[in-house]
Amino acid sequence: MNMSVNNPQTQHWQAMSRDHHLAPFSDFKQLAEKGPRIITRADGVHLWDSEGHKILDGMAGLWCVALGYGREELVEAASKQMRELPFYNTFFQTAHPPVLELAKALSEITPAGMNHVVFTGSGSEGNDTMLRMVRHYWALKGKPAKKVVIARENGYHGSTVAGASLGGMKGMHEQGDLPIPGIVHIAQPYWFGEGGDMTPEAFGIWAADELEKKILEVGEDNVAAFIAEPIQGAGGVIIPPDSYWPRVREILAKYDILFVADEVICGFGRTGEWFGSDYYGNTPDLMTIAKGLTSGYVPMGGLVVRDEIVAVLNEGGDFNHGFTYSGHPVAAAVALENIRILREEKILETVREETAPYLQKRLRELADHPLVGEVRGVGMLGAIELVKDKQTRERYPSDRAVGMVCRGHCFDNGLIMRAVGDTMIISPPLVISKHEIDELVEKARTCLDLTARALLV
Ligand code: PMP
Repeated sequence: MNMSVNNPQTQHWQAMSRDHHLAPFSDFKQLAEKGPRIITRADGVHLWDSEGHKILDGMAGLWCVALGYGREELVEAASKQMRELPFYNTFFQTAHPPVLELAKALSEITPAGMNHVVFTGSGSEGNDTMLRMVRHYWALKGKPAKKVVIARENGYHGSTVAGASLGGMKGMHEQGDLPIPGIVHIAQPYWFGEGGDMTPEAFGIWAADELEKKILEVGEDNVAAFIAEPIQGAGGVIIPPDSYWPRVREILAKYDILFVADEVICGFGRTGEWFGSDYYGNTPDLMTIAKGLTSGYVPMGGLVVRDEIVAVLNEGGDFNHGFTYSGHPVAAAVALENIRILREEKILETVREETAPYLQKRLRELADHPLVGEVRGVGMLGAIELVKDKQTRERYPSDRAVGMVCRGHCFDNGLIMRAVGDTMIISPPLVISKHEIDELVEKARTCLDLTARALLV
């Protein structure tokens, strides 16, 4: 057991975990030996574990709890809907009010010309839906050879077979013979990790040009779409150099391929705009959504589709695709209420004008720390690169597991930061206050100090 456990109930739950639970993205054996931390309740931006520790949730759960914990309005919306109509499907030419009201509400906040949505249960299912839909679309247009989707190394698009294939995580591809055919990957715009001697601007252009090279290599007539996160989240909050998106837009304008923005993390205010595509001035043809759509209180995802694509699909008969929980009424009711609160409480405006600038300013103060090679961020997203040499960006040897050491200190000191290799990342609830941002940054500094000290041993 790693952490000290005083509450017998914690031991009881850890034994249940060992005996019965296989957790996501975990080394099952190691977790069984160590036992998970048990989170028992939450309020605002804080969590409590079964040992009574109060923890600032710097990751908004898994990037999703936009409104923070304990919003009674969301609870009310769910329970009211459960009483009225807990479930009905949207198959076989039926619908129900919450799904229709949500589809309309989304059309008011999504980019112009994107007025329809397919609902799913998760972001992964949204991307699976995308793969089938773009291929169907091109077939209807008389171009059935346009099947290949270009994605990026170290992108994350989910854990289903299509999602993990679209993603560019090597560790995921190694398990289960992925990617599936028809999905190819290009370099990511990760200057700090892969930019070498290039300036960020030159590297951004280089990485964007990889898209054009790939289109020419595969052949425009065979390419259905390009998918990318506006800012890569799970890959390590990778913010492309300023030159990247403008160059990608130029390239996309030259070729007849669809552009899919995976907005699962960036959507619903994370950058201070409704979507990351709005932040960068990109005009996607399709957008995958999930997470912040319901603030994570209930599962829901979807795929937002541009009008021109809908017009083609409308002439194509049945689209043979859908999930039992597509447009689940309870999830739709919660999403509607979530969007109402985001709008009425002007949360995006507060993020954009007050709290995100404050978070970004305070986070950057950590750049003076001897372990820190770069601090970057946009909106309510941030990354801290841990290095051995600040000038050359040289890392510590991977067996020192510096990121994991830092993450451990964070847990022990009441802060959740995630480690992606030696990149520490944050994505707090959008409602985090300036005072709570101070708490986050001060705790982060303490943990960086403890990590630096541990490296001397
Ligand atoms: N796309 C992105 C960008 C994501 O970050 C995630 C989840 N982290 C997904 C897709 C998959 O979503 P889900 O876990 O809801 O299937």
